[in-house]
Amino acid sequence: MTSFLNDGLARNFLAGAWAEGDGGKRIAVEDPGNGSPVADCALAGEDTLARALEAARASFERGDLAAMQPSRRGQLMQRIAAEIRGIANEGAELLCRESGKSLSAAHDEFEEAAQYFEYYGGMADKIEGKSIPLGPDYADFTVYEPYGVSAQIVPWNFPVSIAARSLAPAMAAGNSVIIKSPELDPMALAMLGVALERADVPAGTVSILNGIGADLGARLVQSAAVDQIVFTGSVPTGQAILRAAASPVTPALMELGGKSAAVAFEDANLDTLMSSLQSGIFYNAGQVCSAMSRVLVHRSIYAEAVERAAALANGLSVGHGLDNPGLTPVISARQLDGIETLVATARQSGARAASGGARLEREGYFMAPTILADVDPASRVAQEEIFGPVTCFTPFDTEAEAIAMANGTDFGLVAGVFTRDLARAHRGANRLRAGQVFVNEWFAGGISTPFGGVGKSGFGREKGLEALYNYVRTKNIAISLKG
Ligand code: NAD
Repeated sequence: MTSFLNDGLARNFLAGAWAEGDGGKRIAVEDPGNGSPVADCALAGEDTLARALEAARASFERGDLAAMQPSRRGQLMQRIAAEIRGIANEGAELLCRESGKSLSAAHDEFEEAAQYFEYYGGMADKIEGKSIPLGPDYADFTVYEPYGVSAQIVPWNFPVSIAARSLAPAMAAGNSVIIKSPELDPMALAMLGVALERADVPAGTVSILNGIGADLGARLVQSAAVDQIVFTGSVPTGQAILRAAASPVTPALMELGGKSAAVAFEDANLDTLMSSLQSGIFYNAGQVCSAMSRVLVHRSIYAEAVERAAALANGLSVGHGLDNPGLTPVISARQLDGIETLVATARQSGARAASGGARLEREGYFMAPTILADVDPASRVAQEEIFGPVTCFTPFDTEAEAIAMANGTDFGLVAGVFTRDLARAHRGANRLRAGQVFVNEWFAGGISTPFGGVGKSGFGREKGLEALYNYVRTKNIAISLKG
């Protein structure tokens, strides 16, 4: 095992070293696939946070990244990418055990993390300002400056790739970063520190701390020593963070939840819809912010679509993530209880379980892959994020009705249109209220395509070139040449 986990205890990556945290506080991390313990994790408290903040500030003031030749900063990031690939096998197994996700999905996370560093590393020397014409008496131009210390709070569903999604552009722009890992699966993310260490990232530039959200997370976002907050997680936590950020007026980026709808028209290719549904709601056991958690289907193909979706769900293999099954467990007993309760409420209010509908009675935290049919679009299950392998089918008759239904929640993360009619696809893409619209393939796009929400799904965009500008602020320099 690596330096951060050598005696069953995962440590904090604090200013280039591995630290045990404060007061001997620990959390036990368990394997959702069988409920067995994976390891303990040392928790950072007030003192460790203070040291991380101090080190991050000192690194920024020294210009460890910000004053580095931008092309060298880019090279450093390429080295980080290589080191992430170097720890990927060990890290993916750890991630699989602590999160329950499949081993192949865990590998995907490390690969994606490496790609974020390559992608944003390539931009480190391309953050160019503009010259603004004010006539012959002035020279006026803009420069982009890093914020300083970026506080980044990460959720448990994709801890490694989401952390890299924010860390890489922040570093490319020259910021110092403190990451607060998620308490349910903190270890693979902490292990990213090993890659940073091996790539010789200056000590203090990045710290990765383990802690409870309401304790360490709340302290971090309230701190006046933080220059920027990047939050990815649920709406209630995002709202709490925005309130905390109001007092010191800290800029905050919000990447929140979703209740995303696929709209399948009468000319949709059902094979395409089914393959999209399989990844859209069963990948990572549906614990994906942009999951296909609603499927609105034209009435003429609705019965066939529901039947095929139920057959798909019933045909999924189920098992421990290490065996790469079609369906993995959800993250915790609490998560499973919440999913099951919401599904039970939906069934009581008239929805029909075409497949699944309850937990699977087996070791670990498994929800049966569930297709709910005839779901009332105004009901709780159609309005609230479920975050499990459960989707809601509802029929529609007209295009206008379908768009209104798809747009009829407080969220607006992604949406999808399934049709062979190009004009209809464009109309749908224009009218759907979402940060990203997929046509004929759920989860189309990648690290270079901007991603983010509308409404309660948040604001700001991650991924792509655009996201780099979350991590800089514009300064205008106006020079009089009049003498
Ligand atoms: P969560 O809001 O419970 O926790 C997210 C993080 O916030 C955790 O690290 C937690 O410890 C921390 N936290 C909790 N309370 C805090 C506080 N008061 N101050 C500071 N930090 C605090 O979310 P979760 O259950 O970990 O993740 C699932 C949610 O994340 C879902 O709603 C999902 O849609 C959303 N998500 C969004 C995106 C996106 O890009 N839009 C991506 C992944 C997940």
